[in-house]
Amino acid sequence: MTDNTVTAVPFMVVDGELCKGCQLCIGVCPKHVIAISEKLNASSYHPAYYTGSDCTGCGLCFYACPEPGAIRVVKP
Ligand code: SF4
Ligand code: SF4
Repeated sequence: MTDNTVTAVPFMVVDGELCKGCQLCIGVCPKHVIAISEKLNASSYHPAYYTGSDCTGCGLCFYACPEPGAIRVVKP
């Protein structure tokens, strides 16, 4: 029997071109699951990215981000 809820975990996504690398999201994340990329985006900022696991979907990063549309939090 398949339990589809097992894989339905929250996650966040950063739009690497809208992010300006201010790191506010990193400072507020209680799970420490956001990092800064070593690569530059087209505007020469180092964008944040989700490290890939343990996001609770709390939304703190979304509300802290000053750039509209840069962060999306998905909570299934
Ligand atoms: S939603 Fe919460 S736990 Fe998930 S990345 Fe944002 S601040 Fe961290
Ligand atoms: S708060 Fe927004 S603009 Fe700042 S680093 Fe995080 S995603 Fe980028």
